[in-house]
Amino acid sequence: IPPPHIAAIAPYQAGKPIEELAREFGLDPSGIVKLASNENPLGMPESARRAISDAVAGLGRYPDPAGFDLKKALSERYGVPQNWLTLGNGSNDILELVASALLEPGSSVVYSQFAFVVYRLATQARGAQHIVVPAKDHGHDLPAMLEAIRDNTRLVFIANPNNPTGTYLSNDSIESFLAAVAKRHGTRVTVVLDEAYNEFLEPELRVDSIGLVKRYPNLLVSRSFSKAYGLAGLRVGFGVAQPVLTDLLNRVRQPFNVNSLAQAAAIAALGDQKFLAESFEVNRAGKAQLQSAFEKLGLTYLPSYANFVLVKVGDAAHVNLELLKRGVIVRPVKGDGLPEWLRVSIGLPQENQKFIDALTVVMKQLA
Ligand code: PMP
Repeated sequence: IPPPHIAAIAPYQAGKPIEELAREFGLDPSGIVKLASNENPLGMPESARRAISDAVAGLGRYPDPAGFDLKKALSERYGVPQNWLTLGNGSNDILELVASALLEPGSSVVYSQFAFVVYRLATQARGAQHIVVPAKDHGHDLPAMLEAIRDNTRLVFIANPNNPTGTYLSNDSIESFLAAVAKRHGTRVTVVLDEAYNEFLEPELRVDSIGLVKRYPNLLVSRSFSKAYGLAGLRVGFGVAQPVLTDLLNRVRQPFNVNSLAQAAAIAALGDQKFLAESFEVNRAGKAQLQSAFEKLGLTYLPSYANFVLVKVGDAAHVNLELLKRGVIVRPVKGDGLPEWLRVSIGLPQENQKFIDALTVVMKQLA
């Protein structure tokens, strides 16, 4: 029998796998377009594939528990010492580690309405309370989040850009928030800045998050190799924080949490600036393609800073089902409190077009 806080958890709902949809609707899997999990439509970089082939021979042994080579590469790229880095089984793991390290029953966690669902899951799994702050224009309301912090608050989660809304916070707004939290609460409250979609931001919009980590000992920045780097299936991400906080994360980390193939592939992907630039361009073009289609269809959408767009379709459950029948998988966000919206990951031009064509037919039928 689970404790009540575990029984109360509504599980994570992932995007439907292609094979499952093919079986359910008798469709040819090769014709199905999946724009549901914010994956990289280019797939994984060739450089990572080669690194994986080379690493296969070593699979009889455990991975490097310290992830030395990957941390060395990250340390050189971001200009932080290796003892400021934590590797994770996806950046999801980093979010879980910080929750394990800092929460206990009786603690509370502040995050925004419409924020990434794992903040709720990680909080509930520790028997901690969540303080969900109403969103402002579908994004985080940082001044309200500051006021929501209570004596028992140990963590604040901020996603920038946010999933599922694709909204964005400026460097100045985040820095003012951090300064105010530090002034009022010292290091009693840790702020997690989740930057899983950072690489899709126009360079001039990117927050100087590593610079902020150097100034704020209560800040943990998390990044992912699942999105722009194209390694979602390998599960690798990392956290950057000052050594006192990093040390706490390492106390609760499984010793071999990042497998050898993931470590090798991440090093290759990190060095593959060409792939990263191509991912950025494909995303920028696909975003324009989707947003202009929504405008033509007269649909409201949230201007996105990430690799997906949230669009308001009305009866989202119906539209989603009709899209599925036509071999297009997108993501309903009813569980996130957005029952009239669908989240569409940005794909290759022809994938986006297949979605747009299907959506056009479905919306016309509804009109
Ligand atoms: N943060 C946000 C905001 C996300 O949307 C996701 C993926 N859906 C993650 C973290 C976790 O990604 P991963 O574990 O693949 O790095």
